[in-house]
Order: sequence, then C-alpha cells, then structure tokens
Amino acid sequence: MNAHYDTLEEEVEDLIEQLRRYQQAYYVDNRPLVSDLAYDHLFDRLVALETEHPQLRRQDSPTQRVGSDLDSSFPEVRHTIPVLSLDKAYSDAQLLAWIEKTEHKVSQDVGIVIEEKIDGISIVLYYEEGLLVRAVTRGNGTVGNDVTANVKTIRSVPLRIPVARKLAVRGEVYLPRQSFSALNEQMDVPYANPRNLAAGTIRRIKSSEVAKVPLQIFVYEGFWEDDRQIGNHLLILSTLASYGFCINPNMGYFTRDAQTSRANLERAGLKGFAGSFAEIGSYIKAHTAARSSLPYEIDGLVAKVDELALRESLGYTEHHPRWAMAYKFESPQAQTVVQAIDIQVGRTGRVTPVARVKPVQVAGSIISNITLHNQDYIDMLELGLGDSVEISRRGDVIPAVERVIEKNEQSDGTYHMPPTCPVCSTPLVQKGAHTFCPNVQCPAQVKGRIEFFISKEAMDIENFGPETASVLFELGLMQDVQDLYTIDYRKALCDQPGFGEKKIRLIEEGIEKSKNQSFKRVLVALGIPELGKKGAEILINAGLDSMDKLLEVARSNDIEQLVAIKQVGMKSARMYIDALQDPVMLKRIEALSAVGLKMEQDAGEPMSIDQRFAGQVWCVTGSFTHFNPRSLAMDEVTRRGGRTVSSITGKTTHLLAGSGAGSKLDAARNLNITIVDEQTFLSMLEQTPTEEEKQGEFSF
Ligand code: NAD
Repeated sequence: MNAHYDTLEEEVEDLIEQLRRYQQAYYVDNRPLVSDLAYDHLFDRLVALETEHPQLRRQDSPTQRVGSDLDSSFPEVRHTIPVLSLDKAYSDAQLLAWIEKTEHKVSQDVGIVIEEKIDGISIVLYYEEGLLVRAVTRGNGTVGNDVTANVKTIRSVPLRIPVARKLAVRGEVYLPRQSFSALNEQMDVPYANPRNLAAGTIRRIKSSEVAKVPLQIFVYEGFWEDDRQIGNHLLILSTLASYGFCINPNMGYFTRDAQTSRANLERAGLKGFAGSFAEIGSYIKAHTAARSSLPYEIDGLVAKVDELALRESLGYTEHHPRWAMAYKFESPQAQTVVQAIDIQVGRTGRVTPVARVKPVQVAGSIISNITLHNQDYIDMLELGLGDSVEISRRGDVIPAVERVIEKNEQSDGTYHMPPTCPVCSTPLVQKGAHTFCPNVQCPAQVKGRIEFFISKEAMDIENFGPETASVLFELGLMQDVQDLYTIDYRKALCDQPGFGEKKIRLIEEGIEKSKNQSFKRVLVALGIPELGKKGAEILINAGLDSMDKLLEVARSNDIEQLVAIKQVGMKSARMYIDALQDPVMLKRIEALSAVGLKMEQDAGEPMSIDQRFAGQVWCVTGSFTHFNPRSLAMDEVTRRGGRTVSSITGKTTHLLAGSGAGSKLDAARNLNITIVDEQTFLSMLEQTPTEEEKQGEFSF
C-alpha cells in the first residue's frame, strides 16, 4: 500500500478523483494538468489495485469506461458502433506476449496489422446512402458530440462516397506539426501540442473559424451495415482508400512467416512493411526512431488482429477491444531546477522569458534553455526561480516546462517580467498576451533583423554568417538591413582578425548575388511579423505579386482585401498592414529597391507546386461548387503536371466527376478508370505528397 494512505479504499478513492480531474483538463479543456506519463502511472496503479482486489473495483472507475470528452455546447448523439479506448503495452516483449496469448485464446494463427497511433482526436464519420450525415466525437464511448459542420471543413473528409450502404468510419483528426507551429505562434497562451490545439478547434462553435485551421484526418476502421465480404482489416483499409478516404500508408503487417505476410499485403493492394512476428521488435525500434521526422505526431503504434471473425470472438471490455493493443512510446521527460530566467528581445521587439535550467538529458540531448513564451504561461505554471520542474521535449523536439513539482520556499513566488527592456531600457508594452520593446532601434532588434535577413530562411546570403554580421554591427556600420548593400567591406573588414582578402571577396560576391533572390525571399526578409515563406507564397498566389500592390493595400488600409484571401486571418492581415505603414519599414523597402533587390515576382517564375499528377490523364465533367467554371479544376490538374482531355478513352486515367455527370461516368466505370469526386479532388490538392509518393513507392 502507498504510505500516504491509511487504507487501500482511500488510495483507490484518491486515484479515481485525480484521474477524473486530469481527464476533464485533458479531454474537455484541452489543457492537461499533468504529463501523459504521470497520468498513465496513476491509471496503471488503479488497474493493478483493482486486479488484485476486485472488491475495490467501482462501476464508475475510469478503468471501466472511456475517458469522456463530452462537451455541453454540442448536441449529443448515440454511437451505433463501439468507440472505445485501447489497452496498452510499453515494450515489444509485452506486445509479443499479447499476440501469443491472443493466438492461444482463438486457437489459431493470427495476422497482426500495426498502424501508427495518431495523436489527434477520435472521430466517427457516419454515412447513409453514400452521404456523410454525421461526424461525432468519441465522447464517453456510447454517446458523442455532433460536430458535423466542423468536420465538414476538413477537405480530406469525403462528403460523398461511391457506395449507398450505411457505413461508419473511425478516424483520427490531427493537425500537422508545421501548421501547429505556425498557428501556435499566434496563440496568447500556446498549446502544449498539436493534439490539444486540434481538439480545441474541432469544438469551436463557429465552423468558419475551424475552416481556418488545416486539420487533416487518417481513417483506420470501417463498419459496414451488412458486408460479409469484408473479412479482414487489410480489406477494410483498401476499401476505404478506394472510396477516397485518407489511410495512413505507414503500416506493418505481420504473421508467423514473412512470405505469407507479403502475399496477404500484396493481395490487399496495400503498401507497407510485411514481416514475421520475429521482426516486430525491429519494426518498433525503427518506427520509434523515425517518429520525430513524421509530419504529424504519433504517440505510439496500434497492433490489431486482422481477421474480423476472430475479433468478434475476442470481443470487448467496457474500456477497450480485446483484439487490439496500443504500444505507447515512452514520453521523453525529466526533472530539473530553474536556475535563472532571462529576457530575450527578438527582431520584432517581442520579449520572451527563457528559463535557464540545470542541464539535464531528455530524449538524447542536453537541455539547458527553455522558452517560457510569456507572462501568462509563467502565471499558468506558477513558476518561480529555484523551483523544481518537470520538463519534456514536445513532439520529441521542443523543450518545454510542463509543471512545477516543488516550489522553492525561498523564492518570491511566481516570476514577473521586468517593466523595461533589458537591452535599451525602454519601458515595455503589452500587446495581447505578449510583451514588446517598442523601440525599433533597440540594438537587440536591429541585430536580430540583420541576422534574419541574411539567414537561409530569408535572403540566404552566401558566405555571410551571423559572425560577420556581428562584427559589422559592433563596428557601428549597420543600423538596418539595407546597410548590407552600401558597406565598403574592404575598408570595414581588412583590419579585422579572421577576415583575409579571399574571405572579403566571397562576402562581396555573396551580397552581389543576393540581388537575384526572388521577390518572395525579399518579402520574407523584410521581417514583417507573421509573414514567413508560406505567408509570402499565399499573398503572391493571390495576385499581390509586387511591392507596389502590397503597399497600395497598406496605404488604403484595405484589410478586407487581405482577409478575403483564404488562409489569411484577421490578426495576420492587421500585422501586415501595420508593418507596411511603418515609416522605418517604408524607408527599408525604398532603400532595398534602390540597390536593385527584386520588388516584384518575375514573370513565369514557378511557385513551389508539386507535380503529383505527372503522367496522368484527367477528364473533367459535371458541375462543381469550388471550380466554376470547371476549367479551374483543369488548371489545377495541369499546374501539377497532369494532362486534361475532353472525352473518355482507354488512355484516360482519372475522371473528375461533379454533380450531373452523365454518360462519361458510365464510360469511366466500364473502363475501370479512377473516379474522383470534388471533395476527394480538393483533398488531393491539399495534401503534401510524402517523399515516397513523390518517388511512386513506399517502404518504411
Ligand atoms: P488511448 O491512448 O487509449 O488510445 C485510443 C485512441 O487512439 C482511440 O480512441 C483513437 O482515437 C486513437 N487512435 C489513433 N490512431 C489509431 C489507430 N491507428 N487505430 C486505433 N486507434 C487509434 O486514448 P485515450 O483513451 O483517449 O486516452 C488515454 C491516454 O490519453 C492516456 O494513456 C494518456 O496518455 C492520455 N491522457 C492524458 C491525460 C493527461 O492529463 N495528461 C489525461 C487523460 C488521458
């Protein structure tokens, strides 16, 4: 028994109370109070106590039901399929033991599919007569929230499928890492991970707000009302893919021998790794190592029995199916002490508190500095100097303080940021949750702007690194980025240690060459808040392809024009306009234009668009909501390397069929041509192809 409790009943009571509180914070508020690891420890302790002392198992124990994410703002709908949680294993040995036990239970060999456990929000999509009629959250496993309008904004969710039977599809809605980083930057109190931000988004009241967040989905289960032909999981996946759903290609299929696995996988027409049970250990190892390079977050793998008849005989507990097992990755966490909190001033003047912690190893790297974002974040943690903290590497990468474990009794309580800039002493100002140094001449901002301008992200000036910039800055030769183009480098650097004749010549060449950089790079390099490469691409694609056009928008304060562009939000639009009205920015633009930097997009300059339709021949028929006239859809095909034709022939590879598609649809069916509806086409345009897709093959 735990020494803190007098009786086991007391411990169980306390565990249940804690787990309930943490579930509410995690599932409903999307702001977890503890790490998953800490939660899982408590959960496992409760399972162990209940197994050992069944009389302590209460009907309302969190182990007896699915953690509920029900939210009273949305209507409740009853699920018609089991929507449960998963049982968990923490090592490949545990997983293999489960497979062996399962084979023993069903007295036959089984096939095991291993999928990635996407760290998102569980959704069930209900189709009737081929139409999406409802999208429902997991809820408490029996009843979920109806979030149909919000889920319909996800382009990769087909609104119509090519079969008229009743179908329920389970999937995980997620937010790719890159989109998360970009959106989280704009949050007053950043979310801990893409899952929480995605969960918050799917429960927004306004679907128009949801539509601004590029959520995506992978589906992994299908329940047909009466289809006895689909007898295994592989077939479920390939059938769902043929309906236009996104299924995750990173999967493994295992049986007792690799040859059988390969044959079964091939028969299902699926790509993935095929191997024997003996290879599961190395598969898990490889996947664990590769997980941080995936464009989305996964928190483990899910092993599932392939044969549906066996699933039926294995059945379910109140909490999870007995035919599946999650393998959870170890969450990379550690404990340390906050030794100091420093204040950093960035190129936009944003002031960020940074915790200097006692160096500690987390997931293979030594962590000593951790951003604390802003005062709200510090207040939320109630963090003070000398506190002992739990830290993690979110998504295996970004270090974060998760919570205070023990307060330093000697400290002054929660830390407060200073009232003035630590670099130039100007009083700091508050904008939303963030604090700024308003002095654009603040040396920290000037230096930051120059370092950003020359960086790979912006002008990518060859042979010119931050050390050279620093030397010139210290010499007092750089007040703003345009000075880079007027400095006499020979005169300035010839007496400086480390700068020989050759190095100076290379610097001059790099500067000269940078004048050929694209307008997109120049636009990014100006340092307009929130305007990175993606933002610049969006503006240019929307026709704002010259500095004159952008300045005109700013001059006329035409925020509507910017907001009308898909993917530009009100907050970013305001920032762009404010920045382009700023006299210092205008002077910078004028000077850079005068030295010959590109101030408009070159005619015919290709935007970075992938050629995913190369080699394909598309016929487009019927009418569309998004592509009116339909030549707009044909343009999308040709921009991506495909060819369009006006009639169906043996060479046609795809038919894009809108409403009212007539004889061409029949012809395509007869010739077995891939038929794509508008929603699927939109999701095909949206998706970033994986490296494998680009190469036309997949192997893990
Ligand atoms: P789970 O970990 O038991 O996993 C089940 C879910 O995985 C499914 O509902 C499904 O949505 C998802 N999933 C993703 N990919 C899948 C795939 N390919 N196949 C099948 N399912 C897939 O999830 P849960 O029951 O929602 O939550 C339990 C876990 O959540 C805990 O182990 C803990 O780590 C975390 N949690 C943390 C806190 C906290 O305070 N930090 C609180 C509650 C829960």
